[in-house]
Amino acid sequence: MSYQSQPKASHFVNGAYLEDSAGAPIEVIYPATGKAIARLHAATPAVIEAALSAAETAQKQWAAMSGTERGRILRRAADIMRARNRELSQLETMDTGKPLQETLVADATSGADALEYFGGLAATLTGEHIPLGQDWAYTIREPLGVCVGIGAWNYPTQIACWKGAPALACGNAMIFKPSETTPLSALKVAEILVEAGLPAGLYNVVQGLGDVGAALVGDARVAKVSLTGSVPTGRKVYAAAAEGIRHVTMELGGKSPMVIFEDADIEDAVGGAILGNFYSSGQVCSNGTRVFVQRPILEKFLERLTARLASAVIGDPMDEATNFGPLVSQRQIEIVQGFIEKGKAEGARLVTGGKRIDREGYYLGPTVFADVTDDMTIAREEIFGPVLSVLTFDSEEEVLERANATPYGLAAGVFTRDLTRAHRVAAAFEAGTCYINTYNLAPVEMPFGGSKLSGVGRENSKAAIEHYSQLKSVYVAMGPVDAPF
Ligand code: NAD
Repeated sequence: MSYQSQPKASHFVNGAYLEDSAGAPIEVIYPATGKAIARLHAATPAVIEAALSAAETAQKQWAAMSGTERGRILRRAADIMRARNRELSQLETMDTGKPLQETLVADATSGADALEYFGGLAATLTGEHIPLGQDWAYTIREPLGVCVGIGAWNYPTQIACWKGAPALACGNAMIFKPSETTPLSALKVAEILVEAGLPAGLYNVVQGLGDVGAALVGDARVAKVSLTGSVPTGRKVYAAAAEGIRHVTMELGGKSPMVIFEDADIEDAVGGAILGNFYSSGQVCSNGTRVFVQRPILEKFLERLTARLASAVIGDPMDEATNFGPLVSQRQIEIVQGFIEKGKAEGARLVTGGKRIDREGYYLGPTVFADVTDDMTIAREEIFGPVLSVLTFDSEEEVLERANATPYGLAAGVFTRDLTRAHRVAAAFEAGTCYINTYNLAPVEMPFGGSKLSGVGRENSKAAIEHYSQLKSVYVAMGPVDAPF
């Protein structure tokens, strides 16, 4: 299969594509067919070294430029991404299998938003003046240095930009390692940044599995690591970063609750549950996979949910009418099928789906379980696929206790028409990102991230600046030194 804008080599280092065929092969599979569309090579130690030394050298000059100059380049890159949105979206669809209907509005566009937003902020980054009587102090906001970004496979372009844009805006260099499952799109981000005027060495992409990520995280030249991935990987990367007391951002997994009260607008609640469970075939970290429905509206909710799911258009992801595509890989479909079998074995009621769809590629129908109880595996563990669990509740107090009874804390949602209850419940949720009467929106202006096992730090918004810069304090004495002897 041929497609536009295929990257020219495996890596992008020091402003140009770079190949080293000595690296272990990485087969890129199109999830809609299961067939290979590209073959890349994992980074060898020589490639990793080239990226680190290019980043270290380039960062110093970049940090010396004005914020306005840095921001202009990022905003230009945003414009190029928007102009090429269709071509980039097609590549993202090949990489991930997500329907073009989605990638056209949620991937390169989201990446462009981050480049534009942080490009705009770059010139506003300052320290402050602190009066101390006759003395005074000031702070200087400094970049951290060389940052490493490590991505998951569900939103490759978005993750590459959500990490790259704030890092570059603050004057850092970035080495990004995409997921080995979806290695293509980040290369295009690097290419576009250079086309927009980014000096060589500031945004490098190296391919590989966990060992390449680990080699980067453990290097003494690296000041910060931002990971998007699972909790087990987060533990390893956080621990390795701790060896060098490096800064970290951890965007990890979740098992988020969505609470639907009986007074909710039922169509909005069903819409929220669909968005929060079946967009990207359910492969979204913040999905509200535990849907708590208040008892009086349970049957109505299930009836409307199944009716609306029946109209999902499952098919060729390149067809813009398709709104539900395949899972990312054979491995992922097997993991999800394993959870579905556990759900059935532990007594949950399969309302719809649960089966692989009879066509090539990794298609699994949208799946809904009802009668799910808190102790079942499907209610406790992250599935990362199109599996929605419906649980029933009676009171607000009860549902809050159950919603929060998880080691994760990424997101949470509430559907109700009662204004005070909505805010009371949002305040009580133990989660980093909460929604009232909607679900899973992640505009760049709003902080995004998790609490508890779901992560540390925040992406997007002004909050991300804190995670890609540090403050230097300078005390200025205006009088004689008052020493004790
Ligand atoms: P994963 O944890 O298997 O891999 C994530 C990345 O880490 C990959 O690039 C992988 O190569 C790399 N890696 C693995 N071991 C490493 C090591 N020891 N050192 C350095 N890097 C290493 O995750 P995945 O399967 O690619 O993605 C799915 C997971 O990501 C889910 O748990 C999902 O919830 C999470 N996720 C979180 C967010 C968020 O923003 N919170 C967003 C998307 C996905």
